[in-house]
Amino acid sequence: MYYNKNTIVYLNGKFIKATDASTNLYSQTLHYGSGVFEGIRSYNTEDGVRIFKAKEHYDRLLYSAKKMHIKLDLSSKELEKITYQVLQKNNLKDAYIRPLVYLGENMSLNECNRVNVVIMAWEWGNYLGNKLLRVQLSGYQRPNPLSCHVEAKVVGHYTNSILATKDAKSKGYDEALLCDSEGFIAEGPGANFFVEKEEVLFTPPRGNILPGITRQTVFELAEELGIKVVEKKLKKEHLRQVDTAFFCGTAAEIVGIKSIDHLIFKLKWEDSISSMIQKKYKMRVSKNEFQNVFV
Ligand code: PMP
Repeated sequence: MYYNKNTIVYLNGKFIKATDASTNLYSQTLHYGSGVFEGIRSYNTEDGVRIFKAKEHYDRLLYSAKKMHIKLDLSSKELEKITYQVLQKNNLKDAYIRPLVYLGENMSLNECNRVNVVIMAWEWGNYLGNKLLRVQLSGYQRPNPLSCHVEAKVVGHYTNSILATKDAKSKGYDEALLCDSEGFIAEGPGANFFVEKEEVLFTPPRGNILPGITRQTVFELAEELGIKVVEKKLKKEHLRQVDTAFFCGTAAEIVGIKSIDHLIFKLKWEDSISSMIQKKYKMRVSKNEFQNVFV
């Protein structure tokens, strides 16, 4: 699904076949989760293949690496350029791009200087599908921001996301929604969360979430559409008062929510301002305002 015998990946300065790539079994990332990564999308736009908000994604990768004391000697611009080459070599247009910075051999918990960079890409549809989601308010909480850097996209943080997803799916739901360690609503396992009430959007503030690039795009689109967005700590009880809700993220894009636990939202998705944002997002990524063009 992710690669075949012809797939080319970028690994430590070289473009090689995915089937020829190998990794060290004594990798600190493999054992302890101390790596960082990104999830990016490219779109086949009217002007050719374009990576959506590449700079923002690679700036975040560098930020994540810094927070984890991982020394990366590639700039955001260089990483973007390499990514366009990976897309070209694999003839990919609408693609999902996965840069991963992982560490080499080190079985201690000390800083590791062996830094590897891999960039992979594959065709991937909407991560959460296109239908409205039935969401479970998870029993799992997001990691405490005093125990890790929640604004960094760190490999190990995703064990929390996997547990919440598995629990929601095993109970028949499509996706989980997690609270923070103080009991306020935070985000999904791999997406940010918004609610709509009387044509105003509300979303949890920074502090306990990964501040998504799609979340930021929603702010921008809402401003263009004259829709007010308020960053607000939301309690579970607030959900009963809202008209509808959605998740947003690079992989999921914007996906509407039908219900949370037993609560079914009354406003029809098509009648919501959230669905206007969803449509505008589709238009934005396929037309685009791209900062850097290398192809
Ligand atoms: N929260 C979490 C936990 C995520 O993994 C993601 C996906 N990167 C997001 C939010 C959304 O971030 P973005 O819009 O930058 O993809």
